[in-house]
Amino acid sequence: MAEQDVTMEKIVNLAKTRGFVFPGSDIYGGLANSWDYGPLGVELKNNIKQTWWKMFVQERLDMVGIDAALIMNPKVWEASGHVATFSDPLVECKKCHERFRTDHLVTPGTDLAKTPCPSCKATDWSEPASFNLMMKTWLGPKEDATAVAYFRPETAQAMFVDFPNVITASRKRVPFGMAQIGKAFRNEITPGNFIFRTREFEQMEIEYFVHPSQWEVSFEAWLENMYGFMDRVGIDRSKTHNLEVEKDELAHYSKRTVDIEFDYPFGRKELYGLAYRTDFDLSTHAKHSGENMIYTDPMTNEKYVPHVIEPSFGVDRTLLAVLLSAYHEETVTTGSGEEDTRVVLRFKKEIAPIKIAILPLSKKEELSSIAQPLAERLAKKWRVDYDETQSIGKRYRRQDEIGTPYCVTVDFDTLNDQAVTVRDRDTMEQVRIPLLELESYFAQNL
Ligand code: ATP
Repeated sequence: MAEQDVTMEKIVNLAKTRGFVFPGSDIYGGLANSWDYGPLGVELKNNIKQTWWKMFVQERLDMVGIDAALIMNPKVWEASGHVATFSDPLVECKKCHERFRTDHLVTPGTDLAKTPCPSCKATDWSEPASFNLMMKTWLGPKEDATAVAYFRPETAQAMFVDFPNVITASRKRVPFGMAQIGKAFRNEITPGNFIFRTREFEQMEIEYFVHPSQWEVSFEAWLENMYGFMDRVGIDRSKTHNLEVEKDELAHYSKRTVDIEFDYPFGRKELYGLAYRTDFDLSTHAKHSGENMIYTDPMTNEKYVPHVIEPSFGVDRTLLAVLLSAYHEETVTTGSGEEDTRVVLRFKKEIAPIKIAILPLSKKEELSSIAQPLAERLAKKWRVDYDETQSIGKRYRRQDEIGTPYCVTVDFDTLNDQAVTVRDRDTMEQVRIPLLELESYFAQNL
């Protein structure tokens, strides 16, 4: 079996035709860089989020979750520094008036003045300026300065702001962490590369509170945990790399940051970030809000502001890395000895959007009267697809392309032997399983 390289074109096409991700507002000509998750995309995304939540909240006694409001008091963003400093450097091409992020155009050591505009190739740039990425809106009927609010640019801040309420309500002791999954908005200057960089996206973030002396141990443990998650959802480790962010490039709140990068077809770029945020956030919010953020250790009575380790995951970048890792194009030899190309998404079973496809060999009543109730029964436990049109070979290929681990064929022999054929996505091997044993077979294998 020979393997081919995956390109973005192949992924974007497959995503659209099979219903993972569509261009947003498609019938109106789309909206630049906005994407909708289709029937399979929403299943895949939910499975990724559920795996994350299970691994980092439900399976741990030192973690709790929250789901905070998306629009917060603007004072939060003044205190956090976002209103003043959450910006990217921007330049405008004086010829075609396209705008770009300066740091995306030039690398250290290259000169902007000599860099051609990616759109029109001119080399006539405006002075670089700072562009704030906060997405603004107005609350209520008055569109003036008193009504200005922001869509959150990250989920993190709510976890700092809710710290006193959570610690009182949950009675957790340091070290413990909070987790949140939700949408974030950034008015990105140059969104692009499919769902890699968009203005509306989803994050899964953790704020882990520790004693100041414990930050290094916790940082290393979380780096390990992040790789554990990537293994669990099937992100190819050979395509990931740790980038230690240089001291002079650290964000104002961070003493150490490691970016986990992924080799996308368009280059090596950030997938996740892990930051040591010191006590910056809790102390800043204490100062601006007047709320006490000091923690008293119940054993030693020591009083301190907890320090924070922040593992931050993008949902959409996870989904893209999962698709890119799962995509395989193989040359296979068919039963009749001919060569054929098979596209298969080798998703981990835990995150595959559809777990089982029920495929009656023909549409005849005698088969569907067995296949239909079987599909309904299995659907109570697993996500099931039911497909009775086209040749069985084409239906297998379609399920391979959407990464379904098992296909179940109900055929005319089923009428006599009360058994079905189960085909494995990866090995393409087929086994005959009695109908009565099917549920326990999947319970064992899924
Ligand atoms: P970048 O350097 O790529 O702009 P960042 O360092 O600003 O990313 P963070 O602020 O650390 O990103 O956000 C945490 C995570 O959220 C990122 O690692 C990424 O997975 C995701 N993310 C950030 N911005 C976007 C975006 N515009 N579209 C999709 N995902 C994003």
